[in-house]
Amino acid sequence: MRYAETGFNLEIDLSRGNIEKVATDPGDTELYLGGLGTNAKLIWDRVPPEVDAFSPENLLIFGAGLLCGTPATGCNRTILSTISPQTGLMAFSMMGGFWAPELKYAGYDKVVLRGKSPELVYLWIHDDKVELRDASHLAGKGSIETAELIKQELNEPKAQVAAIGLAGENRVYYASIEQGRSSASRGGIGAVMGDKGLKAIVVRGTKDLSVAKPADYMELCNEVLAYIKHREDNPIPGVMPILAGLGSPQEMKVHDEKWHTENFMWGNSRERRRDFWNEEIEKEWTETLEKARTRLISCFNCPMKCGATISMPGLPTYMMKCFTKLTYTMGAYSDLDFGLRIAQKATEYGLDGFSAPQVMAFALELLENGILTRDDFPGLPDDNEGRFYYLLDMIVKREGIGDLLAKGTYWAAREIGNGAEAYAHNNIKKTEQLPLKLSMLNPIYFLMYATGEKMNITQIEGQFPQAPFATREEREAFVSDWIQVPDEKFKQILLDWEFRGENSMPFYPTVDMCCDIVDWQEKMHYIDDALGQCAGLSSFPLKPPYHIHNYPKFISAGAGIEMDEEKLSQAAKRYRTLVRAINIRRGMRRKDEKPPENHWKKRFPELEEQLLDSYYKLKGWNNDGIPTRQSLEELSLDYVSDDFLKRGILTEDENASAEETVEA
Ligand code: SF4
Repeated sequence: MRYAETGFNLEIDLSRGNIEKVATDPGDTELYLGGLGTNAKLIWDRVPPEVDAFSPENLLIFGAGLLCGTPATGCNRTILSTISPQTGLMAFSMMGGFWAPELKYAGYDKVVLRGKSPELVYLWIHDDKVELRDASHLAGKGSIETAELIKQELNEPKAQVAAIGLAGENRVYYASIEQGRSSASRGGIGAVMGDKGLKAIVVRGTKDLSVAKPADYMELCNEVLAYIKHREDNPIPGVMPILAGLGSPQEMKVHDEKWHTENFMWGNSRERRRDFWNEEIEKEWTETLEKARTRLISCFNCPMKCGATISMPGLPTYMMKCFTKLTYTMGAYSDLDFGLRIAQKATEYGLDGFSAPQVMAFALELLENGILTRDDFPGLPDDNEGRFYYLLDMIVKREGIGDLLAKGTYWAAREIGNGAEAYAHNNIKKTEQLPLKLSMLNPIYFLMYATGEKMNITQIEGQFPQAPFATREEREAFVSDWIQVPDEKFKQILLDWEFRGENSMPFYPTVDMCCDIVDWQEKMHYIDDALGQCAGLSSFPLKPPYHIHNYPKFISAGAGIEMDEEKLSQAAKRYRTLVRAINIRRGMRRKDEKPPENHWKKRFPELEEQLLDSYYKLKGWNNDGIPTRQSLEELSLDYVSDDFLKRGILTEDENASAEETVEA
């Protein structure tokens, strides 16, 4: 008997229209848990490095996390994995909402797609009935519009729909998959879905899902709910409001945008406007949001209400959450009204709200600086807002210059040439990042930016405060109920951390301490991504209800797998290493592990090298970032080390062959 998971995947060959229900190996769950962990195993086993994003052999996996669909609060993530067209590396993007629990209730843990459909189709999963249906009438339709049309034609108002818009159909490298209450945005996952000729996956499930020890499990769930209440009643003092509570960033609840608008960069990550925020703007933006926000909404089984439905006059309603609230506004140097309006169109098109505005601002910067000319933009309006709408259409339809811009700043700059590469300055591993430019190097963030493989810095940070507290009293108060630490040493690091003097950035926390902090933070994110837990209740906020001490109990009582902290840490390390191995096999090396060039003004090259050296060592990777044979064998990843030896990536004496590169 399988608990928490169903024990079955759906395997869909889109080229042949073949559908299979496949029993999975419970041994893989022990080793890799579920969600991201077992997705990574499938990608390793079945997608060799010669396969690119738009090859029929590339897989697109919709994986529900191991505990999704159980009563664990906030456990609702679908983890989508494939090879990214933007990076050529493994992309994994998380989607909240209701889709993953619905898939479990239909009787499946994953949908694994391969091949390409000759015609546009959608997949309809209704418990045991699974079929591919014609979607030619949905070609070019918006993602939300598509969901509504499908639910009507199936007469299934409760079905959950994950759909692409025109951007995905046209293989824009930063196309998203939208799902009404959430989206999988990073890594160009929507472009792969479009390339496969798949417009949507629709799920309706009515089966039960068992947990191993229901009474114990409910007790754990109730403890989490009680902690959420406690945290709500007792926000953490002395930190930014965004870090004081729980949930993913509660952008749809706040009106004070002083911090974001004055600290994040405007345009294509171009400039900081330190005196931007004033009373007049606050009043205007508050009115805009109050009018637009029809209600706050949550994902499946969660009280946090991080998202909101947005209804701008004259436009259809859509869902927004998090920082997309400001990305278009700031990219175009405009106001909130514009940002919320264009985001409606971009959501229907199905675009990543991080990358798309930066690419558009990048194009306008190239025009301003004479690298592109007016001839490249026939019919371009004169005003900035009009230009953004113009570029949005050009990119999504892949018309004219939009065809290049659809590949993102990194690839577009290379193809445009003429100095354009200097303007693609906010990338890590070829993907646009948060538009931030800061003063002095933060060694913890340096490591996260450089070595992270999630394509989004906000999905790696979390457990350790971003800055020291000003006074000893504040620090003592913070550590007094810090139950989440995996080791008491983290309390001492925080207690000794000062703003100035010997124990301050960039040399304190020390190199070893930074490595331990980043390892802890990353581990928690990877555990969330295997269990399907929203980071907003676990790895992202300070002092969350889920942590390394109660997670093993959830897995034991939920999935019936005997688990303790050490075994869980080892499992997370195993599939985290496997993700790295997939990318190493695709050519990623140390030289690719760097933050955007001017992310920090004051850099410390020697320290940065030491940080990488020590972190690699801690992770069991050699000096080029390649997992060593010994570490692979300790993690029961012998098949990876055999493959590395065969390919010459590792040699018998473990010296890396560093010849391969990720450069195209
Ligand atoms: S914390 Fe927010 S984003 Fe996370 S599951 Fe709850 S409502 Fe969704």
